Amino acid sequence: MQQNQNNNNDISLPAELTRLRDLAYNLRWAWNNHALDLFRRLDADLWERSSHNPITVLRQVDRACLSEAISNPDYIAAVNVAARDLDEYMAGGSTWYSRSEARKEGGLAAYFSAEFGLTECLRIYSGGLGVLAGDHLKSASDLGVPLVAVGLLYRYGYFDQQLLADGWQQELYGPNRFENLPLQLVRNADGTPLKILVDLAGQQVAVQAWLAQVGRVPLYLLDTNVDENSPEDHDITDRLYGGDSEARIRQEVVLGIGGYRLLEALGHRPTVYHMNEGHSAFLVLEKLRRHVESGLDFEAARARAREELVFTTHTPVEAGHDWFSPEQLDRYFGGYPGALGISREEFLGLGRQNPQGAEEWYCMTILALRNAGNSNGVSELHGEVSRGMWHSLWPERPVNEVPITHITNGIHLSSFVSGEIAEMYDRHLGPEWREEPADPARWRRLEAVPLAELWSAHEACRAKLVAFARARVSERLERHGAPWREVREVEEALDPDVLTIGFARRFAQYKRATLLLRDPDRLERILHNPDRPVQVVFAGKAHPRDNGGKELIKRVVQLSREPRFRGKLVFLEGYDMAVARYLVQGADVWLNNPLRPLEASGTSGMKAAANGLLNLSTLDGWWAEAWEGQDPDRARIGWAIGSGEVLDDHAYQEELEANRLYELLEHDVVPCFYDRDANGLPGEWLARMKSSISCIVPYYNTHRMVREYTERFYLPAAPVAR
Ligand SMILES: *Cc1c(COP(=O)(O)O)cnc(C)c1O
Repeated sequence: MQQNQNNNNDISLPAELTRLRDLAYNLRWAWNNHALDLFRRLDADLWERSSHNPITVLRQVDRACLSEAISNPDYIAAVNVAARDLDEYMAGGSTWYSRSEARKEGGLAAYFSAEFGLTECLRIYSGGLGVLAGDHLKSASDLGVPLVAVGLLYRYGYFDQQLLADGWQQELYGPNRFENLPLQLVRNADGTPLKILVDLAGQQVAVQAWLAQVGRVPLYLLDTNVDENSPEDHDITDRLYGGDSEARIRQEVVLGIGGYRLLEALGHRPTVYHMNEGHSAFLVLEKLRRHVESGLDFEAARARAREELVFTTHTPVEAGHDWFSPEQLDRYFGGYPGALGISREEFLGLGRQNPQGAEEWYCMTILALRNAGNSNGVSELHGEVSRGMWHSLWPERPVNEVPITHITNGIHLSSFVSGEIAEMYDRHLGPEWREEPADPARWRRLEAVPLAELWSAHEACRAKLVAFARARVSERLERHGAPWREVREVEEALDPDVLTIGFARRFAQYKRATLLLRDPDRLERILHNPDRPVQVVFAGKAHPRDNGGKELIKRVVQLSREPRFRGKLVFLEGYDMAVARYLVQGADVWLNNPLRPLEASGTSGMKAAANGLLNLSTLDGWWAEAWEGQDPDRARIGWAIGSGEVLDDHAYQEELEANRLYELLEHDVVPCFYDRDANGLPGEWLARMKSSISCIVPYYNTHRMVREYTERFYLPAAPVAR
């Protein structure tokens, strides 16, 4: 059995501060402000420059800062409190899982994902899918659900975004130094790195793993960058979503097959395997092969595997599904049909729409759907859309009996709620809102919160967003060598007292980032209304090969440079989780206008709602569900753009929806925000904030979501239950 030896001995700290190491190597600091603050307090500049990386802070902090920390009794006491708190957390104690009937069933879930968004210094995510996976782990940890996770550790991660002078996105790839991240190389008992072998088209590739400890949940990140591999194989885990289809299949073999073997080598015996999106679906084949090896015939092996496999599909967009050619499958899985005791055609049929379709390509989503006993979409609407989309796999059934259900996404609240709003919740709801967010009665106590208190907490967040945006824009301008006067001008951009619309997410085309810019003159009138001014902040990255998405960024940037929009419409470069937090905490209105039904769920609007922002969104994904579920007797929870109709003519639909968006802003959103009472408070707006929080937060969180996965999918797979 391996042990995870600390390779952090080279961090030298005074005796009083040694526990900072333990705190740094457990990512729980990412959702525990007391722990996180200890690193910031050591050296605030270094904390910012390191992209919030506690290992860098501990390695590079200078003697003077350390001496100051040691001589400060408050600081030492805070270290001890945080260390004790982490020890208690890790000891388990009373959790939802330990208290529930569930624990009697035993079992261990293994969660596989190609990306994880846990915190900004670990750049192994691209967007909502990764952040959702990260939140899944954090909630499983908080709830005490027994879970291990597997992903890939990308040497160059996902890119950093820089814009050319004309607004065209450039992708910068800087190498991650794994030793400088809160990760530990997984080692054997004798101290050598633990490695497993994966066969890639006849070539044995060695894979090592790094442990990211996410609270109580271990996340193993696979890495092919080891000496004995050929240079080509080193690069398999180079970039997230970087290469061509050949690079993609190699990564996916490492993730699915390599991940399966790693867990085995570590002595984990999962009772259920959860594939988060199709990238890890090759693990299905390894699972089948093991069952056949243990003596089952192919059909029995399949029946057994079904009970152990869970699959979550995340998008109705074509480009989100991986397809490989039969020839690729032959090359990478040539030995599998023989090992499974089936023909090549039967083997390929596992991943084909029509199992007899001899020329058909092989789809990872189909492989997962055909073999997982439980499959789900990520919102009620997306479940329905997915049943229609994959109906051809079950042609004999009516569409509503296609075996794809839904579990609606959520967010990990402690990771996204601002300090200001969290303190208000602590005061009025009690600190238990973090652990038991799914109790609606708790959130009804918001009614008693004085309006002025809620408003001032929110306004503090807006002020922080404005300060952050000014600093980010001027820093990037200086880097471009912009004239001094221009840099000074953006230092005055935005106004901390003005209604602020936020839009930040991947610039995928279906998300239609430029809908609001469709009629620039009308937008100009809205932004420049002298009594009721408005400002807009955008952020987001386009996929490196999505030129359409890059055009959208360019359009936003070019408009933002026109004199009439300068300082009123701002694009923040380098979108990541840190930028996302500023935006979902500090804007007033969260704009979301995807083309229905292409947004499977969306989660950024849930983060916004948890901070008291009001959503302004087309009725797609989670918002269609939340809108439907609101209490008609209370203040509305935000605004719906349109009524969920889907037209064949997308251009016409866009025109209608842009028009509706402008009307809502002109007649509802802006007047509501500026309708102030004698104390200067926007009474109706604040009523909506309260409605929105208490309607949305108890349900749209990952504690509720992980409980659903556990009760509906993980536990029924445990051996006792069978
Ligand atoms: C939450 C989040 C997303 C998801 O945004 P959607 O509106 O759901 O597309 C994307 N990126 C980051 C960094 C996030 O934190």
